[in-house]
Amino acid sequence: MEIRFYNTLSHSVELFHPIDANEVRMYSCGPTVYDYAHIGNFRSFLFADLIRRFLEVSGYRVHHVMNITDVGHMTEDAVADGGGEDKMQVAMRKLKEGKKSGKAQEGAIENPDDPYQIAAYFTKAFLADAKRLGMKVAFEHPQNVLHATAYIDEMLAMIRDLIERGHAYAAQGVVYYSVESFPEYGKLSGNTLDKVQAGSGGRVSEEELATKRHPADFMLWKADPRHIMKWDSPYGQGYPGWHIECSVMARKALGDVIDIHTGGEDLIFPHHECEIAQTCGATGNDRFANFWMHARFLMVEGEKMSKSKGNFFTARDILGGKATGRAVHPAVLRFELIKSHYRANMNFTVKGLADSASAVRKLIEFRQSLDEKTGGEAATVDASHPVLKTFLEALSDDLNVSGALGVVFPWIAGDHPDPHESLAVFQEINCVLSVAPIEPFEGDAISLEGEGEELPVNDLCRQMDDARARKDWSAADTIRKTLQDAGYEVRNSPNGTVATRQLA
Ligand SMILES: [Zn+2]
Repeated sequence: MEIRFYNTLSHSVELFHPIDANEVRMYSCGPTVYDYAHIGNFRSFLFADLIRRFLEVSGYRVHHVMNITDVGHMTEDAVADGGGEDKMQVAMRKLKEGKKSGKAQEGAIENPDDPYQIAAYFTKAFLADAKRLGMKVAFEHPQNVLHATAYIDEMLAMIRDLIERGHAYAAQGVVYYSVESFPEYGKLSGNTLDKVQAGSGGRVSEEELATKRHPADFMLWKADPRHIMKWDSPYGQGYPGWHIECSVMARKALGDVIDIHTGGEDLIFPHHECEIAQTCGATGNDRFANFWMHARFLMVEGEKMSKSKGNFFTARDILGGKATGRAVHPAVLRFELIKSHYRANMNFTVKGLADSASAVRKLIEFRQSLDEKTGGEAATVDASHPVLKTFLEALSDDLNVSGALGVVFPWIAGDHPDPHESLAVFQEINCVLSVAPIEPFEGDAISLEGEGEELPVNDLCRQMDDARARKDWSAADTIRKTLQDAGYEVRNSPNGTVATRQLA
């Protein structure tokens, strides 16, 4: 099967081949952990997850790495020379003003003057949301989710290399990347030097302009002993620019040239343009990532999402029912965020969420019926099975999700003379979609009344089976009620009690 992806770098759909025959090395720009991630962020992260899962079911081993930005991402990042405020500082200020950055739980951050505590809190929240939404990179080994502050030494080493190779220079306490030293600058975004020269001076002070060789030169390090997070360096105590972390972590984890780099379309410029300049400047290669893939913006009810319009939603807002008035199952939000093509602007609506809930319900009920008919035993199928083949072929066409879903729903509505084979096909499809779990989502835990300890929902189901086996009906009823009160539908299956979260 030939796989084709749209490559932002060439502005065209290209045939995809990884550098190594069977392994794909993929890097995704992750969140800045100064607040909860919003549904637009998750659209981009889940788009990366979809690529990864599709490639895995197609037979590749995918080494997928995502970063966590916990320093140096400034509020005015357009020209990338340290303008504005570090976003970690914004979080700190809001917490101290009592706005709790919107919603940080009372008392969850002991000391709001400590940016590391803020970063740790929102990192934990992000990973919990990511797991609930089925983002595989968050389930894996922690070494695939990298924190910028853990790579300061490596950043300083790359900055030193860039200076030695004539790509960077220090001027009045700032190390700048010299964009004129890299003729390819602007190739990804179209913001070539003649264009940025005209438009980039606005926010830069006269003084800064005088120290830069070119107005588009961007910051790699800034000496600033008053910055909230700072490290010693040959250029003075200070902090790294935002872009350098991704060049450093991608290279360290995945090598000098990688197969796929993903992000939201807002990252194309300056962030990804600068990443290319840094990595190629340091390695001497003419390529950093062979494929640059970007997800378009997410709108809410046809409008740009903004806090002032009141249509700004974090993932946990939606899961908690802020948009709909009732809790939404994570699988429904996942389906909603992956169901439209990544290169089309996505319009997130309450109606769309309800459609997604009914689609996910169909998938879950189909899987449950197959589980009951087969006792959960699947046959063996491979990618040549006609249903799976058509499903994967749709995705191989630049991730045509609607084409792929157009294969799945008519198929599940049809006859299934061999449920073991159908279950096997469905399991493969669900490895990509990841929306029809029988098991409760990881992290779901409930405490039984009178018992302090929280138990995973599966354990409660087993306890219920045990109680029924010893004919302790009242204990079984208590557990059933606990699960139902926590929003689970409880039913019997040939494999014992099954609890599924209510959908929406
Ligand atoms: Zn990045």
